[in-house]
Amino acid sequence: MNQGINHKKKILSEVLSRLKREYPDSACSLVHHDPFQLLISTILSAQCTDERVNKVTGPLFQKYPDAHAFASLSEVEIGKLIFSTGFYNNKARSIKATSIVILEEHDGNVPATLEALVKLPGVGRKTANVVLGNAFGIPGVTVDTHVTRLTNLLGFVKTKDAVKIEKELMILMDKTDWTLSAHLFIDHGRAVCIARRPQCQDCILNDVCVSTTV
Ligand code: SF4
Repeated sequence: MNQGINHKKKILSEVLSRLKREYPDSACSLVHHDPFQLLISTILSAQCTDERVNKVTGPLFQKYPDAHAFASLSEVEIGKLIFSTGFYNNKARSIKATSIVILEEHDGNVPATLEALVKLPGVGRKTANVVLGNAFGIPGVTVDTHVTRLTNLLGFVKTKDAVKIEKELMILMDKTDWTLSAHLFIDHGRAVCIARRPQCQDCILNDVCVSTTV
């Protein structure tokens, strides 16, 4: 068992080294200036590209920069402003409710712990870890569709359950890699290990990947 874990640790470390060389500028692609803006952007990014979210949040945050501003809007008004990101009713409800809780229970500041973040309306572990890692510099393992697909294909996990993947990766990776690993997997998932048509012949990981087709 330990031998299995140690082997996976070694391979994952090698995978991350190669991905760091391949994607030296890998980072969070949601444009934000503070934890609140990243929180709202991450809520908006569900079922939406980061590119579209950034187009919406640019003008949005100029006019409504903080929890106070969003709490003063109605759900319908927020929905109109974020319409093009999809699922706007649910997202507007979460943004309004989260802004109120941040104002009333956290003095207008986004809390900096996983426990407090996941208690905010509409905020799950994925969003919480994005905010922790990228706005507060507190290591967090974010598990999205790319991370789920790649870590299964590479043989590090055998589950689609995001919480299980998060916990297994926390054991397999150095803490210093927790936040960056998601950005690296996302970059590789977009560029090479594309869903349903992975480009294994061009993949820098094909000699260590258990799912390679070459
Ligand atoms: S070898 Fe193929 S399946 Fe494995 S990570 Fe690369 S592209 Fe994905």
